[in-house]
Amino acid sequence: MATYQRILVAVDLSSESEVVLQKAQLIAEPDAEMHLVYVQEPMDNVYVGIVPQSAAFSGLGDLEAQLGEELKQKLTALGESFALPSDHLHILNGSPAHEIHRFSQEHDTQLIVIGTHGQKGLQLLLGSTANSVLHGAGCDVLSVRIGAGN
Ligand code: AMP
Repeated sequence: MATYQRILVAVDLSSESEVVLQKAQLIAEPDAEMHLVYVQEPMDNVYVGIVPQSAAFSGLGDLEAQLGEELKQKLTALGESFALPSDHLHILNGSPAHEIHRFSQEHDTQLIVIGTHGQKGLQLLLGSTANSVLHGAGCDVLSVRIGAGN
């Protein structure tokens, strides 16, 4: 059976990212290509349909750019601590599941590794990033359970 040569690891840059990345490294072959992906969601995604002309949106572009810079620093630090080359660290813009699918397809990854919290109740109904990624993925998906034991 072929091993995973190209792996996409989706991280939200919270402290759980290290757990997800550690698991990916455990199953990756030494010569596997591992890509770390963070998706920055546009800040006006949620409200623009409700209050499209809101004054609150002015200056949002600057804020988003500044946030993007800080996220890039976090991703770089995470990548360095796992000895990943800088051209394997990616910040994408858009909706996480959609961008993860697109990246996976474009880079022909054979595995997507993602964290999951084992949602219950309302969260289960609303769905999670892991659920959205699983549905529609064109390759294997490993969901790493994040819990009290991590
Ligand atoms: P969630 O269910 O949204 O709390 O996220 C669970 C997992 O989805 C995280 O551990 C990451 O693997 C992935 N994830 C969530 N948000 C993002 C994001 N913005 N970019 C990339 N991966 C993400």
